Amino acid sequence: MKQYRDDQQSRQALVDTLVELGNKNLNKGTSGNVSASTCKGMLITPTGVAPELLRAEHIVHMSLDGRVDKGQLTPSSEWQMHADVYRGKPEVSAVVHCHSPYATILACARKEIPAMHYMVAAAGGYGIPLAGYATFGSKALSAANLEALSDSLACLLANHGQLTVGVDLESALKLAELVEEQAHCYWGTLSIGGPVLLEKEEMDEVLAAFVSYGQQEKRVDLVPGNKFD
Ligand SMILES: [Zn+2]
Repeated sequence: MKQYRDDQQSRQALVDTLVELGNKNLNKGTSGNVSASTCKGMLITPTGVAPELLRAEHIVHMSLDGRVDKGQLTPSSEWQMHADVYRGKPEVSAVVHCHSPYATILACARKEIPAMHYMVAAAGGYGIPLAGYATFGSKALSAANLEALSDSLACLLANHGQLTVGVDLESALKLAELVEEQAHCYWGTLSIGGPVLLEKEEMDEVLAAFVSYGQQEKRVDLVPGNKFD
């Protein structure tokens, strides 16, 4: 897991992640927000600043109980949801939240994504869960989100959007992209009678294979000059 500091480089990484969300058609305007944990709290995108206007100095540093360092912009209205993830899941270093189109369609229909494609296992389980509805920015939404993430690195938020977590911003962003792909695929299968779901045993095999794949990635990193083609 990556340890972020409140410095220019980390702040720029948050800006780049929010811009990238837009480039990947996962976010429009000011609805998405991104954060990274630091030793004293977290860095988070401010509320109401469009990605194209966002600069590193606009990123807000705050404590996990909501105290904002002096002279900064107002943090995202979803800061509580981000802060509670870092408190509840200390292995997580980054959170990405967006209203990507297909994930939001499913969230509005209150449908979680079942084991209809083996890649749902990338979120760590047998599907992508749905967090119950609560008003945006509320403590209740934060609690519903954390409950949905108890066995998962990603969830849909009812009548709202999606949220992913990761060991760094890159992995949380990658997972947000995957959730949107899976949501698109599930939406498509629903229009032709619904998917044939994978059995639990089949998903167990996938989850086991993902663990060994992860170990291989680490081993490859350890071998000098050895890169994935
Ligand atoms: Zn939102």
